[in-house]
Amino acid sequence: MGIPQTIIDSICIRECKTRWCCSIRHFSPPPVSGEDIRLIQKTGAAEFYEKTEQGFHLKCRSDGYCTFFDPERKTCAVYPVRPPDCRIFPFDYFALDAEHGQWVIWDCPFSRRMDEDQIPAALDRFETDPRYLRHILGSWTFGNEAYTSASPPYKHAPGFRRLRPFRIIGPGLPTARVIGLK
Ligand code: SF4
Ligand code: SF4
Repeated sequence: MGIPQTIIDSICIRECKTRWCCSIRHFSPPPVSGEDIRLIQKTGAAEFYEKTEQGFHLKCRSDGYCTFFDPERKTCAVYPVRPPDCRIFPFDYFALDAEHGQWVIWDCPFSRRMDEDQIPAALDRFETDPRYLRHILGSWTFGNEAYTSASPPYKHAPGFRRLRPFRIIGPGLPTARVIGLK
């Protein structure tokens, strides 16, 4: 995204007291694909995911944080292979309907440091990199209530800003329709 990883790590660890993006107090647990699971398993991790009607996602502890979150060091145990949902953050998305999506950016210490000029390039990358694209289409409506509901747990969520709509329908790309949406 143009910001060196060391800077991102520094902002997240030093300036974000709760690292709330790793907690289901604000979000749905990160969805994971079979590819994501295999990558994480290579680190030696086991029993870190579960299946629901919406698919596979990472387990969370009773304190609401992701199973991989270290509360002392405020770090992620699988950071180099964290799922696409975590890599995309503070960008996020939701489905407007079966074929149209909306990008948003959450308000947090990291996003506040982001140069506005970096945002279009980041969205372009997410829409064209196959791994991100598979993730987006595979979790099209996952956690959409975060944007449309004021009911718990999302009442605690901080603000977000709408960015541009998706531009992911194109030659050779799957469309939202093929993943079973009406
Ligand atoms: S991405 Fe934002 S919310 Fe998440 S840890 Fe970093 S600063 Fe905090
Ligand atoms: S995998 Fe890592 S970055 Fe993603 S929610 Fe869990 S602790 Fe946070």
